[in-house]
Amino acid sequence: MPKLLACSFCKKTEKQVARMLGGPKVYICDECVGACNRILEATPVDFKGWDKMSEGELLSGLKVADATVDATRTVLQSHVDELRRREVSWRNIGEALGVSRQAAWERFS
Ligand SMILES: [Zn+2]
Repeated sequence: MPKLLACSFCKKTEKQVARMLGGPKVYICDECVGACNRILEATPVDFKGWDKMSEGELLSGLKVADATVDATRTVLQSHVDELRRREVSWRNIGEALGVSRQAAWERFS
């Protein structure tokens, strides 16, 4: 059986995502492309520092930035959910995140 392709960013396999794009030795899934697009939308192309932006520009970017955080949090939660589905312990998840077992559990359970 041929080896499944896996996203180089989130490690999901081609069977776990709708689309997978390939480059030289790297793959990216549709979910990660979506997350990247939201990050790009939230970051002004000609960013010269927060202090150089008008209040209008700062306010108009706020909702996109918030949505980006939400989207990233959703990806992170499903990442942890998959580990828990595989019965990986909170201790191991905490260790991978550099936090205590208790902190990992409080944040993701
Ligand atoms: Zn991915």
